[in-house]
Amino acid sequence: LFIDHPLALGQGIALNTDQAHYLSSVMRQGPGDEILLFNGQDGEWLARIERLAKRNGEVVPQRQSAPQMDPPDLWLMFAPIKKARTDFIVEKAAELGAARILPVQTDFTNSERIRQDRLQAHAVEAAEQCGGTFVPEVTDLVPLPRVLDGWDVTRRILWADEALVGAAETLAGLEKGPWAILIGPEGGFSESERKRLCAMHCVTRISLGPRILRADTAAVAALALWQSELGD
Ligand code: SAM
Repeated sequence: LFIDHPLALGQGIALNTDQAHYLSSVMRQGPGDEILLFNGQDGEWLARIERLAKRNGEVVPQRQSAPQMDPPDLWLMFAPIKKARTDFIVEKAAELGAARILPVQTDFTNSERIRQDRLQAHAVEAAEQCGGTFVPEVTDLVPLPRVLDGWDVTRRILWADEALVGAAETLAGLEKGPWAILIGPEGGFSESERKRLCAMHCVTRISLGPRILRADTAAVAALALWQSELGD
């Protein structure tokens, strides 16, 4: 269970309504049961449920069961698509170890707003589900030009470019280090966006194979490829 609170031996933590409901009604836990907690900083802790009601409760950390494991320094930038598929991208990016997830607004992005809080909650659930000790930060929707204007070039951009479909450009031989994967919207990037990206020295274009993938599939494929070629 993710808990937004420091974890230390014997220091009781009050549960909020959602957490108490999840433990009592969904997980069917009760006082005296043990659960695993993480907060993204202090590793994983075994904790005892001290009190539990439908809307509140208290858990007490007993011992650290795993050290803090931070993901590799990998970001995912993508243009949000339909709600369910955007949720899918955030969930899979959290499972595949992205450290930061940045929805970007592009010329052909339909949505002008996202529910950042909902997406962040999806990232928390995905981290809980896969037993990680880290929750990626999901940022609010930012226009792509603004992201690129302030870009720190020590982080390279790995642009999955469908124009290279079937070409030989892959991740093999790329340097390790901080990277940000960039996935375009269903309509691809506009000509002016393509020009701007092509002019940036920190951008490397790759192909994801011989077929054009949906944006959500492309995000998962690129994250998995990065993990196998450049991850630790
Ligand atoms: N509208 C584009 C077209 O028909 O040419 C397709 C865009 S695709 C559905 C969405 C995004 O997925 C692309 O912008 C790209 O980032 C990524 N993508 C999909 N297939 C890819 C491939 N084979 N290689 C690299 N990137 C790919």
